[in-house]
Amino acid sequence: MTGDLDRYDYLDGNAAAGPLSEIFAIDVLSARGRCAACGRTDAMATARLLPHSHGLLLRCPGCSAILLRLVDTGHSVCLDLHGLSFLELRRQQNGSQPNPPQPT
Ligand SMILES: [Zn+2]
Repeated sequence: MTGDLDRYDYLDGNAAAGPLSEIFAIDVLSARGRCAACGRTDAMATARLLPHSHGLLLRCPGCSAILLRLVDTGHSVCLDLHGLSFLELRRQQNGSQPNPPQPT
């Protein structure tokens, strides 16, 4: 899909909160991300989620490129972030850091 996303029914990025909260300990939708295709930088909550896609796809509201793709196969979750050139995760106001990775 290329072109103007306004031609399609969509939800805002907040509609992805449930599935993303299952794999991220922090609120990814409050993070700022930069689209690798057009360079737009904005909160991930401003991304557009097309509800009838295969998997969960968040698209850039500027150019419609896929920013994030999440596919749950039932036994694993695949996360593709190739559409983001960066994702800025902010620390909490009290200075604490996002949850560190846990040893496996
Ligand atoms: Zn873009």
